[in-house]
Amino acid sequence: MERPNSMVSFFPVLMPDEHLFSIFARYHQIAGNATIDRTKAQLGLAAGPLKPQDVSNQTFHTALKTAATLLMQSLSKVARDHTLVPLLKLSLPSRIQDQLHTAWENDQSSIPAPNTLMNDRMLTFDKSWRFCNECIKTDTREVGFGYWHLSHQIPSIKRCKIHQAPLLSSGLKTLNDFQLPRDAHENTVQGSDNLMENRWECWLMELFASCQASGSWVGLEVLKATFENVWGVPKKPGWARTRRYEEIVGYVEDVAGIPLLETIFEFYQGDRLTYRGRARPNFIRATFESTDPKIRHPIYYLLPIWAAGLSPHPVEWSRGL
Ligand SMILES: [Zn+2]
Repeated sequence: MERPNSMVSFFPVLMPDEHLFSIFARYHQIAGNATIDRTKAQLGLAAGPLKPQDVSNQTFHTALKTAATLLMQSLSKVARDHTLVPLLKLSLPSRIQDQLHTAWENDQSSIPAPNTLMNDRMLTFDKSWRFCNECIKTDTREVGFGYWHLSHQIPSIKRCKIHQAPLLSSGLKTLNDFQLPRDAHENTVQGSDNLMENRWECWLMELFASCQASGSWVGLEVLKATFENVWGVPKKPGWARTRRYEEIVGYVEDVAGIPLLETIFEFYQGDRLTYRGRARPNFIRATFESTDPKIRHPIYYLLPIWAAGLSPHPVEWSRGL
């Protein structure tokens, strides 16, 4: 593989709130390379899909390394300011967080990828690249081009926090052809007018900003302990925990409302109590009791914590423990 540094004579700077992968799309469009593969080789990007939610595969790691090197910034800073890592790391055990942190601080080329990470199959929110038309207009006016904003890729967010405008789906699951928002063809309006959806979105956006701003690494252990603490889950016996999980899922459904839950989880479909012919799974029990080594998406943990009325600042949770 070619070394990225020696082949690249210029590289664009990352814009505020720009997603890491967006800069590679912009680079490709101005580099004038004949093929996509040529750009990928030039930048040393490992093959693989460029998805907004991916933070643990080799493509992501090589992209992070290349951008950090060319921009002369630390890997940690690029990850914090331009990727969903600040949110997605919340459900990583501290041991794995430490591994990642160490790798980034020491600028290691090979970053340990937790291969059991982020099962998002049952999550129904839009996982394609999204944008806000007003942001594109503003960006084009101010800097001459539109780019992919990081905050528009936060899972289950449906509005632009600056313009309150509905986010549009580009229909692109990956940026493998280095598309920019102007290349999007299929736009679906997905506005949320539901009050509960708006409250959840505001909380989640504030939480994301809080995670970006604070250097502390709140992880899975804190999420679990916070949940048990605020919802008063008994340590034992097992039947008492099970009974408590039943009560909690009822409370969370009441607070969140089924319309919000069905925009997030596949197993909520209207008022039906079944999913694929079986009783609807108690996602809270499955989340907090599962022995499955796969790490769940942070949304599973955050939703019941939000429903309990906690602040969107994770560093405050650990103080209450
Ligand atoms: Zn906007």
